[in-house]
Amino acid sequence: MTFLRQDTRPVKVGNLTIGGSNEVIIQSMCTTKTADVAATVAEIHRLEEAGCQLVRVTVNNEEAAAAIKEIKKQIHIPLVADIHFNYKLALLAIENGIDKVRINPGNIGRREKVEAVVKACKERGIPIRIGVNAGSLENHLLEKYGYPTPEAMVESALFHIGILEELDFHDIIVSLKASDVPMAIAAYTKAAEVIPYPLHLGITEAGTLFSGTVKSAAGIGALLSKGIGSTLRISLSADPVEEVKVARELLKTFGLITNAATLVSCPTCGRLDIDLFSIANEVEAYISNLKVPIKVSVLGCAVNGPGEAREADIGIAGARGEGLLFRYGEMIRKVPEADLLSELKKEIDHIVEVYEAT
Ligand code: SF4
Repeated sequence: MTFLRQDTRPVKVGNLTIGGSNEVIIQSMCTTKTADVAATVAEIHRLEEAGCQLVRVTVNNEEAAAAIKEIKKQIHIPLVADIHFNYKLALLAIENGIDKVRINPGNIGRREKVEAVVKACKERGIPIRIGVNAGSLENHLLEKYGYPTPEAMVESALFHIGILEELDFHDIIVSLKASDVPMAIAAYTKAAEVIPYPLHLGITEAGTLFSGTVKSAAGIGALLSKGIGSTLRISLSADPVEEVKVARELLKTFGLITNAATLVSCPTCGRLDIDLFSIANEVEAYISNLKVPIKVSVLGCAVNGPGEAREADIGIAGARGEGLLFRYGEMIRKVPEADLLSELKKEIDHIVEVYEAT
């Protein structure tokens, strides 16, 4: 089953298109000092390898803005500048080849500063992401609503959108992040009803790898299941590569990614006679960077094994001291437990080769 996407205006970011009927784009953010080109490029390469399609860097000073030119030469995915308030940094980033700017026009200041940024973006076809955050709503909205609410967040987004539309600028992407999951779900759901631009999903300050993954999956998953969201970033207090892994897993869950391998593994029970946890973890690591939509199943015994394996391209079902190897639902051979992992990897390699050759 796949989940239909809500239609939005398509917005070009470098060689990607966000929104419209396009697939949900995975993004992340560098943890390095942007001015440290070598470290930033190395991190972006790791993110690319993991499946990141768009990456953001902080542009908090002139050195960071200047580094964009060199970083862009050495990476293969579009680059986004994260800018707060300072329109001069936005102009510098644009001049240096940035592909997208994250800045809230209502926070830039005088009208001519906003106009200068919008003009520069228009000239180069660069979109702007408006980033509403429940923790930093404008004072007039806090006065009106008393505290952050989904309605206040949507009103904030509409306020910033209004400024850009007044300048006839429409290459807009909008995020409405909150660390409170129900608030974020409500804000994005309301926004999807009234905002025609692509929505960038995120649960901000979600937490560590474990808790942040659960919170992000709960919030972003609820939205994806309603067809909401054109791009997403998982925010974790962890290596950003983990953010990309979680994002890919989440999109797989909803059938929204076409280039990722899926693992099905059983929780084990008293019927188990092989070391299934080690095999499942090793297989998961082995297929994590594959860009091929294959399904691998690792089951502890033959009770559910054949049934699950039928759905998978390749799979094993454990038995006493050995395993049964299944390909497209057919048992192809018995393998001693010691060789199960290596045999399964060989079969996976073969399927990938065939897939890539066709
Ligand atoms: Fe237990 Fe077998 Fe089911 Fe795994 S597949 S949980 S070992 S019955």
